[in-house]
Amino acid sequence: MYGDGFETHAPTQEDAFPSVLLEKLTHLGALSAVLPVKNGGLGLYESPEGMQGLIDLLRVTGRLSLSLGRCIEGHINVVRLVSLYGSDRQQKDLAALVKRGVLGGIWVTDGAQPVTLEPTATGYCLNGVKGFCSAVRQVGVALITARTAQDQDVMVLVPTTEPERIGKGPGRLTGMAASGTGAYDFTGVEISADSIIGQAGDYLRQPEFSAGAWRGSAVALGGMDALVDLMRQELRARGRAENPHQQRRIGEALILRETASQWVHRAAKAVYGVHVAPEECAAIVNLARIAVEQAGVQLLTLVQQALGLSAFIRGKQVEQTLRDLATYLRQPAPDETLTEAAAWFVERDWPEETL
Ligand SMILES: Cc1cc2nc3c(=O)[nH]c(=O)nc-3n(C[C@H](O)[C@H](O)[C@H](O)COP(=O)(O)OP(=O)(O)OC[C@H]3O[C@@H](n4cnc5c(N)ncnc54)[C@H](O)[C@@H]3O)c2cc1C
Repeated sequence: MYGDGFETHAPTQEDAFPSVLLEKLTHLGALSAVLPVKNGGLGLYESPEGMQGLIDLLRVTGRLSLSLGRCIEGHINVVRLVSLYGSDRQQKDLAALVKRGVLGGIWVTDGAQPVTLEPTATGYCLNGVKGFCSAVRQVGVALITARTAQDQDVMVLVPTTEPERIGKGPGRLTGMAASGTGAYDFTGVEISADSIIGQAGDYLRQPEFSAGAWRGSAVALGGMDALVDLMRQELRARGRAENPHQQRRIGEALILRETASQWVHRAAKAVYGVHVAPEECAAIVNLARIAVEQAGVQLLTLVQQALGLSAFIRGKQVEQTLRDLATYLRQPAPDETLTEAAAWFVERDWPEETL
């Protein structure tokens, strides 16, 4: 879908996957904390306290590394979808893997040859390539979508531990280089019916399909935290923080960051709220996604204006974080996301918070 315009280049420090950070998070129990309580996790999806814990986990990870944030968010998405649509057995099996430190990945974006699922005498056979796979070398189990002969998409949970299946990704991205994004070839992978999660169409089922995006926004918020810190630090270090023009920019940056934070919390409350209609939940999260994107994009410009050319010097943390956030903010179908949400609220009033 994105072609194979991959330029070979000597790997730089920026390309290195944040393995040490991932190990530390795994050691702290972050991967298993997101499991439901019945599967030995903290059930971060099961209570308002869990909501704040999940926001903190995503935000802090994004602040440390947007690339790692992308991977942790994908892992959480896998746990969430399996807990919503998987059988008890499938949930237990995934929990056992996660407790052993296995990172999950959600790989839905197809490569040049979309992944299909065909029945065999003993189960099913996958064919095709996923083209945009974060942490392609670190993920041990991926939740992918595959198209059936009836033209329906099903979710399949499949081990991804064969390095020879890993290929080049979408091309060299200007940011998020450390996310380890590549392609994975599923051609000829045999699976049993037990690997199929839920029913055809579940991946696109609302509100989860749209609502899950609040977690990506929480990671982006962490990236905004990092940029605000880097901006203030550098202005202080250069003796420019007292300048009224720079103080205006600092103030505007803080407003943008807090705007994004309030939208992330509003979206999370819609997701955790028990009396929120699915369409309303999806619409609120969609608006939050666009609000965070807009705030993030404005912050990029503000930081560049505040620091000047210094924000464009390769090798500086702020320069890399600017590129990482700009890349991270490119999420699917933003026009549709905004207009669908707007359409929902044309005839409906803005709801009270119910959490
Ligand atoms: C670092 C990184 C890691 C990723 N990791 C993964 C991963 O692990 N798994 C995975 O599945 N994916 C992954 N992705 C891919 C990601 O999920 C999206 O596919 C990608 O971010 C989409 O961005 P886009 O700007 O190309 O979106 P698009 O949806 O193509 O949007 C681009 C523009 O086109 C407009 N547009 C969209 N559709 C249409 C249309 N039909 N007609 C006209 N205009 C249209 C949009 O509104 C927008 O203005 C990753 C992406 C990044 C950047």
